[in-house]
Amino acid sequence: MRKNIITGLLASVFLIGSSCQTNPVTGKKDVMFMSESQEIALGKEADPQIVAEFGLYEDPKLQSFIKEKGQQMAKVSHRSNLNYEFKIVDSPVINAFAVPGGYVYFTRGIMAHFNNEAQFAGVLGHEIGHITARHSAQQQSKSILAQGGLLLGMILSPTIAQYGQEVSQGLGLLMLKYSRDAERESDELGVEYSTKIGYDASEMADFFTTLQRKQEESGQAIPSLLSSHPDPGDRYNTVHQLADAEQKKQNLTDPKVGRNSYLKMIDGIVYGEDPKQGFVENQVFYHPVLKFQFNIPSDWGYQNSPQQVQMGPKDGSAVMALTLAPGASLQEAAQQSLQNYGLQVVESKEVTVNGLPAIAVVADPQPQQQQQQQQQQQQPLRTLTYFIQHGENIYSLMGITTAQNFNNYFQVFSGSMQSFKVLSDPEKLNRKPERISIVTVPKATTLAQALRSNNMPDARHNELAVLNGMQLSDQLPAGTLIKVVKK
Ligand SMILES: [Zn+2]
Repeated sequence: MRKNIITGLLASVFLIGSSCQTNPVTGKKDVMFMSESQEIALGKEADPQIVAEFGLYEDPKLQSFIKEKGQQMAKVSHRSNLNYEFKIVDSPVINAFAVPGGYVYFTRGIMAHFNNEAQFAGVLGHEIGHITARHSAQQQSKSILAQGGLLLGMILSPTIAQYGQEVSQGLGLLMLKYSRDAERESDELGVEYSTKIGYDASEMADFFTTLQRKQEESGQAIPSLLSSHPDPGDRYNTVHQLADAEQKKQNLTDPKVGRNSYLKMIDGIVYGEDPKQGFVENQVFYHPVLKFQFNIPSDWGYQNSPQQVQMGPKDGSAVMALTLAPGASLQEAAQQSLQNYGLQVVESKEVTVNGLPAIAVVADPQPQQQQQQQQQQQQPLRTLTYFIQHGENIYSLMGITTAQNFNNYFQVFSGSMQSFKVLSDPEKLNRKPERISIVTVPKATTLAQALRSNNMPDARHNELAVLNGMQLSDQLPAGTLIKVVKK
């Protein structure tokens, strides 16, 4: 699925010639590779694929909140003519991103981490800003110029092209890396747009601090909001100054923050991984709904999305992915998958994996693809795939590495593939997600004490301080609402 998205997006970009167009924000002439109608077509094509990749977060009141605020802000933006769509996707990652043509996505992870409506509105304005200032269009123009060859390789063998890249946070993000100047401009637009609908834009600066603390706390991959960011300290001060200036300019004397209203709205939101989408514990991947489990090689990272589980070692020298395979029988599944990936069989045999019927296949890229890889000075690749039948479904576990490394990785790949089995442990099958619960502090106290009285373990106090956008030593007046987590 991911492969189709990348192929689709890049193919659309490639068909497009360059032209000089007026930038809606600056009023200057920019070289653009996309006309407005091409941007809209790109967004229309990407949207269903993004929704399929992440899934929508099922919460009508949150979805209507982002829609309402988004449309309100779009009206006062520099491109009010576009048909915008605003959606919350079902991912625990903290992120927000925009696709050309007017499509904006927030994850449930970022929604859980905002502490008021104004923070949300600032980031919403920032993302709308990427669309109105046509940043992704510019970015794609540049990347085509700079890496035409590389991208062409991705189109020809999209799955294999992911080889060597870190297990990344999701597809849109692959496409959308903005320059620091673009991020700065979007910060300015975020301030302008959120002020225009009455919010205190300086709150956005505080949210950048939350992002930074989150990153330090977890050592996680950097959310794209921060990925090509201006210096964080600098950004914090700049946004505060811009917010003050914009409020004076627009004569906004009582800017809205909306803390309690926001917290009440997200009461009960799923926090962290949702077990029903699959979860990892001690390097074992469990899927309680599809009822299977398998081991992830030790020290490997992983990324789980509704479409696939992608895994790889930190040095990027191999990649493994679990997906559903097409076809009604094992033979058909193997044939169709290999054809889709442009692979030809080197060796194939029928096997049994913990009682489940399966086919194990070693396959290489077809000669035509290999030639193209060689022309681009990529090393020849080799794959091992297990197609495993479990109930109605056929699963494909594919490992990819260079032909040279293949023997080294063979045991790692097959060890993981042969660990695939039916999940029957009731404790794993019935696992519930954690949810945010909003509680009222009954009397004045510190955040640390409030967390303790809500039975939050000490080991999680720092995480919860970040989630609340506070320090553990902060004094809370009686009646303060705070976030805790509950099963
Ligand atoms: Zn941005």
